[in-house]
Amino acid sequence: MIKYCSICLLPSTKPDLRFDNNGVCSACNAYANRGEIDWDVRKKEFDLIVSKFRSKSLSKWDCIIPVSGGKDSTAQVLKILEVGLNPLCVTATTCDLSQIGRNNIENIKNLGVDYVEFSPNPVIRKKLNKIGLEVVGDIAWPEHVGIFTIPVRAAVDFRVPLIIWGENSQNEYGGPATAQGSPYLNRRWLEEFGGMLGLRVSDLHENHGIQEKDLIPYTYPSDEELMGAGVTGLFLGHYFSWDGLSNYLLAQANGFESFGKVIEGSMVDYENLDNHQHGIHDYFKFLKFGFGRATDIASLHVRRGRLTRYEALKIVKQNDGKYPWTYLRKPLDQILNRIDISIEEFDAICERFTNKDLFLKDKNGKLIRDSSNSLIKVNYENQEG
Ligand SMILES: [Zn+2]
Repeated sequence: MIKYCSICLLPSTKPDLRFDNNGVCSACNAYANRGEIDWDVRKKEFDLIVSKFRSKSLSKWDCIIPVSGGKDSTAQVLKILEVGLNPLCVTATTCDLSQIGRNNIENIKNLGVDYVEFSPNPVIRKKLNKIGLEVVGDIAWPEHVGIFTIPVRAAVDFRVPLIIWGENSQNEYGGPATAQGSPYLNRRWLEEFGGMLGLRVSDLHENHGIQEKDLIPYTYPSDEELMGAGVTGLFLGHYFSWDGLSNYLLAQANGFESFGKVIEGSMVDYENLDNHQHGIHDYFKFLKFGFGRATDIASLHVRRGRLTRYEALKIVKQNDGKYPWTYLRKPLDQILNRIDISIEEFDAICERFTNKDLFLKDKNGKLIRDSSNSLIKVNYENQEG
């Protein structure tokens, strides 16, 4: 039996999520605590940071904004331009960039910013996608590491001392209190929460035959390099109450493009638009922990009172964790072909990472699949089963 939060729909199987005595999860508690935060004080703290970093010289950018091109990074850029900082925007490109993702990157540039796009060696990256999927069940491993390491490397190399990240994912999605309250993103945060799943960069070199020289984009700069450049990274979500939907509205009004229909495995059309591999990443989360992207999104809307828990549950039952036949209309075999994996091999890897306690099985212990080849959870709600 999976235990669910009594306010939202997050399950106890979610890594780092804690429940209090009332059965409320740490993401809901973190959200409730926002009411006690004095946002005016936080805003003043942010203004102080802005005036400290606003460049005295005209030969250097004031800050780096890591941007994916998504709704949140578009809103981030708008906010930073509004306070008068001169940013250098940096994209670590996704592993299998979609056309909408490309359009949204172009849109960010046209908000009026200097921009650098970093694309790690695609031959190595495809190998890392495959290793990630086979070893830790996460095709997105290189992307999730690169989005944190590459902007920091850019800060060191361009000698820009401030990196402005978006939301602290440990806050919206639940995580240890010390991680939630932190305005800073540093090496420790990355190693603990940055999605490395125990697969370290050094393992790739030692156990998987990837040469060290090919791992530069995935290596966090040394303390020495960081100190030399005086790099500080902070989360914008610490200073302003973060809301994905508000960011979307702001982004859309400024040229951001959405998918136009609900994205496979999700319940909205406006996020995770930039990488055809997202569907596989989310599907593995469902196999391992019994919840997918629809649960994440539904939960944050329930938390904000925009959906009832009952309405959200119906949506989740319908949309969550479907077998990823397509993502952003690209067929699974084409997505896999790019990294040299067949559907049969994929299914075998899925089987290996499935937590079989979470799904219905026949009397021979074989997983039951519905007509769309999707698994069925043992329970979607606390009182079931
Ligand atoms: Zn909750």
